[in-house]
Amino acid sequence: MNAGADDYVTKPLDPFTLHTRLIVALRVTSLHSELAGYRRTLAEQARTDPLTGLRNRLTLAEDLELLHSRSQRYGRDYCLAMCDVDNFKSYNDIHGHQAGDAALKAVAATLASQIRESDGIYRYGGEEFLLLLSDQSWPGAQAVMERARAAVQELGITHAGDDSGVLTISTGISNYQPGQQISSKELLTEADTALYAAKTAGRNTVSLSESIHQDLGQH
Ligand code: GH3
Ligand code: MG
Ligand code: MG
Repeated sequence: MNAGADDYVTKPLDPFTLHTRLIVALRVTSLHSELAGYRRTLAEQARTDPLTGLRNRLTLAEDLELLHSRSQRYGRDYCLAMCDVDNFKSYNDIHGHQAGDAALKAVAATLASQIRESDGIYRYGGEEFLLLLSDQSWPGAQAVMERARAAVQELGITHAGDDSGVLTISTGISNYQPGQQISSKELLTEADTALYAAKTAGRNTVSLSESIHQDLGQH
């Protein structure tokens, strides 16, 4: 029993006792599988954002580490794209929080529809989304995110508090290049800084990180 058995019977076997023990054993095993099911559901919930159905920040941390080490080992590029909804506070103020939630869902679905199966999309914060574009260098990422930016604009979600009249997003892109001595955390910071640049450039814009601009200058 100490080694892990749940029950035992002694010989000679008595059919009635055996039958009774089997009923108990069946109950115990079905309880075990029920518990395993709950555990799977909870683990899944812990990794998913309930509003948008996207993966959350916890999953991002795991996936990003994996992508970073894989890209380092195999000498592959990858890009990070940080997106943030423009003037979203005023959207909530004018159109209400429920409309805000619906808009976030629509933006999430639109962004998700623009990327490849092997890419990742995560709800990073309230109205911020992070995209992991694997095997992608910045010109490709820029094209994807320009398409995504246009697709969100084309949703035509009325935003009375924005000069354009519709809901838009701004995006900052950073690029991991093989051989670079940079951590995934630093790449996140680079994408965030580029996002800030997109905001100051007037919003509804895709901006590239400083490192990408330096790289551009060298070629
Ligand atoms: P900027 O263009 O500079 O990004 O301006 P902003 O107003 O979008 O930026 P700010 O960070 O001030 O506002 C973010 C807003 O997003 C504030 C918050 O109420 C709203 N928000 C965050 N999470 C949710 C959510 O789950 N649902 C709704 N409806 N609103 C949310
Ligand atoms: Mg924000
Ligand atoms: Mg915002």
